[in-house]
Amino acid sequence: MAEHHRALITGASRGIGRAVALRLAQEGYAVAGCFSKASAASAETEEDIAAIGVPSYFAECDVTDSEAVERFVKDAEEKLGTIDLLVNNAGITKDSPLVLANAEDWHAVLDTNLTGTWNFCRAMAFRFMKNRGGVVVNMSSVAGVYGHAGQTAYSASKAGIIGFSKSLAKEVAGHGVRVNVVAPGFIETDMTGALGDKQRAKALTQIPVKRFGTGEDVAELVAFLVSDRASYITGQVLQVDGGITL
Ligand code: NDP
Repeated sequence: MAEHHRALITGASRGIGRAVALRLAQEGYAVAGCFSKASAASAETEEDIAAIGVPSYFAECDVTDSEAVERFVKDAEEKLGTIDLLVNNAGITKDSPLVLANAEDWHAVLDTNLTGTWNFCRAMAFRFMKNRGGVVVNMSSVAGVYGHAGQTAYSASKAGIIGFSKSLAKEVAGHGVRVNVVAPGFIETDMTGALGDKQRAKALTQIPVKRFGTGEDVAELVAFLVSDRASYITGQVLQVDGGITL
């Protein structure tokens, strides 16, 4: 049985979030998952979790909307019981060189990736501290650690997640709460599906293990970090990137 029992995963409909939700469900966690808009993908993930046989709560919740986030957490806890594990995974890209970028895209990326993470941590932190336990994993990116041309907004949001998480880890460690960051490289999802053939081929030449990662590769690390096997690990940034940053 998992040491923690009820996980909340943002952006759980597709891609990495779906893989994390399935992996944690397979380990026996009840799963609350949110996404921005109900879709065939969200329905399929919800069905797949139900088929594993754990309790679940799937619903729309825009991570940029703090009131919606509070409501989602309350509804999830009413349905499943006390949440003790939070994975902030929801994220978007709106890539362009800075000289062509616009303020609207900048705000959309910062609001979703960084403020969305803040919203859920703000909603959950006191609960975790009061319960003297809880684990947070925030999804960054190697772009947030090393930068990536054409991704100034995305990289800023993902670097922000790292600074935010390190500070939060220091604030809550004494209350039995751990906060870590996962920084994936290129992972096969809809997000990287938007890459053109040339960009894809170029990326492959830069990845020492010669393949894009899978959602399952990332989920494996998340599953470790949220378990008591990682009870002495907090405030860290762990990369799962096939060696692209070597
Ligand atoms: P996808 O585009 O495949 O999925 C994004 C998920 O986020 C979907 O579930 C989507 O919901 C949800 N989402 C987006 N905006 C919101 C919002 N405002 N409110 C609630 N949910 C939202 O992305 P990936 O699986 O590829 O990425 C997941 C995370 O991993 C992101 O934070 C991304 O930045 C990060 N990452 C991904 C990498 C990659 O190579 N794929 C590399 C490094 C980091 P909906 O289905 O409703 O749109």
